[in-house]
Amino acid sequence: MKARVDQDACIGCGLCPDICPEVFEMTDDDVARVIVEVVPPDAEDQAKEAADACPVDAIDIEE
Ligand code: SF4
Repeated sequence: MKARVDQDACIGCGLCPDICPEVFEMTDDDVARVIVEVVPPDAEDQAKEAADACPVDAIDIEE
């Protein structure tokens, strides 16, 4: 599974790294980015939860 953040859409709310710090972090520009090539299996549920929680739907999950 892969995750992707649309940084043009991200409003920097910080929710995704709060929910799933294994996959997301905030950059110095206050947008989220994905820090892993492939989502670790034990973080998949959290990554999906972060995608669902994103207020601007900026996170894409590729199964
Ligand atoms: S939850 Fe969405 S808007 Fe918030 S930091 Fe993550 S990608 Fe950006």
